[in-house]
Amino acid sequence: MRHPYKFKITKKDPHSKARLGELHTPHGVIHTPIFMPVGTQATVKGMTPGQVTDTKAEVILANTYHLALRPGPKVIEEFGGLHNFMNWKKPILTDSGGFQVFSLSGMRKITEEGVTFRSHIDGSKIEFTPKKVIDLQLSFNSDIIMPLDICTEFPSPKKKVARELNITHTWEKEAFLYWQEKNVANWLFAIVQGGMHKDLRQESAEYLSSLDFPGYAIGGLSVGEPMEVLEEYIAYTAPLLPENKPKYVMGLGLPENLEFAIREGIDMFDCVLPTRIARHGQVFMAGHTRVNIKKECFKYDKSPIQDGCLCYTCQNFSRAYLRHLFVAKEMLAGTLMSIHNIHYLMETVNGIKKKILDTYR
Ligand SMILES: [Zn+2]
Repeated sequence: MRHPYKFKITKKDPHSKARLGELHTPHGVIHTPIFMPVGTQATVKGMTPGQVTDTKAEVILANTYHLALRPGPKVIEEFGGLHNFMNWKKPILTDSGGFQVFSLSGMRKITEEGVTFRSHIDGSKIEFTPKKVIDLQLSFNSDIIMPLDICTEFPSPKKKVARELNITHTWEKEAFLYWQEKNVANWLFAIVQGGMHKDLRQESAEYLSSLDFPGYAIGGLSVGEPMEVLEEYIAYTAPLLPENKPKYVMGLGLPENLEFAIREGIDMFDCVLPTRIARHGQVFMAGHTRVNIKKECFKYDKSPIQDGCLCYTCQNFSRAYLRHLFVAKEMLAGTLMSIHNIHYLMETVNGIKKKILDTYR
C-alpha cells in the first residue's frame, strides 16, 4: 500500500486562492503557508537548531549537491540521516542539487541519463542521475525530496528551454517511478520548469500532474526576472497544478512577494536571503525595508531593530549594540541579525495568514 502523504486543507479564503493546510511528514506536521529557512550545508548559517526553532520555523531546507560533495552520504548515513547528524528534530526538505550543478560546478555534460560535472571543491568528476539523487536524499532521510532537474538560466532562447524541459521531464519520470518502487514515507515533489514561456509551463504542469506526485514545486523563478514577470508566472502556473496537493515556489522569499504568492494558493517558500543579508549587516525593518545596521544614525540608538518584534534579538539588544558587533566584526552580529530576519519572515507569513484567512471567520 502506498503511504498516505497526507496534506489536509483546513481552510480556504473565499476571496482568493489562499488556503491553510497541514502537511504530514515523518518528522511532524508543517502548517502551511510556511516560510522555510535555508540550511544549505546542514546548518542555517550562524544559528543553532534551538535558535532556528525559536523563530517558529517548522521545516528547513538543506542541499543535496553540497552535502553529497561534503561530508558525503556515507557520513550522514552513519548517523541514520540528517536529523541526527545536525540535531534538528523537525522536518527537512532537500533540494535535488540540480540548481547548484548548473550554477556552481564546472565541465557539465548533460544526457538523458543524467549530468556529469566537476566538483567546485576539489575538481573531481561526479555523476548525478535521477536515481542517484533519490538515493542520496533517502540516505539523508529528508522528509521531502526533490527530483533532479535542469533550472535553465534566464534569459535563454526558447529552443534551449524546450530541449532542457524535455530532459527534465525524462529525469522526473524516472525519479518518480524509482521513488514509487521504493514505497517510502519521504515525500517526492515534482518540479515544473519551462522558463518564461507559458506554453512550456503549461506543458510541464500537465505532464507532471499526470504522474501524480504527492506535491508540486514551481522551479526556475526568482532567477533575475522583473517582479511583474515573477508574479505573472506564479499566477499562471499555480492553478495548473492539482488543487489538493501542496504547492511550493522554489527560491521565493522576499517579504514583498509573499502575500501575492499566498493569495495565488502557494503553500511553501524558501529563500537564503534573510540569513545572507544578515551576515552583511542588513536587517528587515517596518514596511519590508532592508536597512544596514552599520549606519551612523544607529550609533547611540537604544531601540531594538524593530519595535514590537518578539524575536530574541529585539527583546534583548539595541541597534547600537548590534551596530557595534557588526563594525567590530564579531561573530555574534550575524547570529543575532539572522535570528531577527528569519523571525521577521515567519511573522510576515503569519500576519498574511491572519489577514487573509481569519477575516472571514
Ligand atoms: Zn526582531
